[in-house]
Amino acid sequence: MSSSVRQTAWLIPGTSRGIGLEITRQLLECPNNLVIAGCRNPEKAAALNGLKSGAKGTLHVIQLDVADFDSIRAVPKAIAPILGEIGLAYLINNAGIGKEDTPLTLDPEVFLETLRTNTVGPVLLTQACMPFLNKGKEKKVINVTSTLGSIASADMFNHLGAGGVATYSISKAALNMLLKLERRDIVAIALCPGWVKTDMGMQAADLEPAESVVNILKVVTFAMAADSGKYLSHIGTVIPW
Ligand code: NDP
Repeated sequence: MSSSVRQTAWLIPGTSRGIGLEITRQLLECPNNLVIAGCRNPEKAAALNGLKSGAKGTLHVIQLDVADFDSIRAVPKAIAPILGEIGLAYLINNAGIGKEDTPLTLDPEVFLETLRTNTVGPVLLTQACMPFLNKGKEKKVINVTSTLGSIASADMFNHLGAGGVATYSISKAALNMLLKLERRDIVAIALCPGWVKTDMGMQAADLEPAESVVNILKVVTFAMAADSGKYLSHIGTVIPW
């Protein structure tokens, strides 16, 4: 691409499969995008590495385990030479895990690992990225959350029999609270991708990854300062906290 066109840089953890892989794929359709795709095992991420061929945008794959704090602390050193003088426009905290459990059956180690991955990881990664976000004009942090983190919706989910993901729901509710606290200097949004056919969402889900992501990217790119602190669905509707 022409060196006179400033690239828009994105950092996305959890891109080996699922929604993160599809976000990366769609972003690479635009020559203006520079995507730094984080994954736990870059050498094993065949689908992700396969996106390099035919990509119009620029893809850099980095090792990033959001449950490993040393891995997060290594991010500035990894992304500084990739970004050069351009700032980081978007951080999409997408990596996540979830298992079925209930408050009465949950395993404390699974609980801590889920919090580490879904809640603490995004906080630390946002901290690590702030110097780069501050250099960009967009300054957008998107925390990929879930409607299952909506305390206001918990009774409805229990009623529907979908309340059996306790640790996951708690980790996303905590991530949502973080959003409310961190939004001053950046455009920070909690975004639920909808119920998507991935390894996590499984085949009974409503949405194909492509359909969810095309909408996610609209919401994310159109988001303005006034949207900071909002809890939104993939089509931009407000979700009750
Ligand atoms: P998948 O299980 O399909 O993919 C999860 C991705 O996260 C994988 O790339 C996985 O990498 C990565 N990941 C997991 N743990 C870590 C870690 N410690 N460090 C780095 N990467 C990690 O899930 P989805 O794509 O469906 O989910 C993406 C996000 O969307 C999650 O935050 C999830 O909570 C959220 N979400 C999904 C919904 C759905 O219906 N699918 C609904 C609501 C929210 P690896 O291959 O190495 O395991």
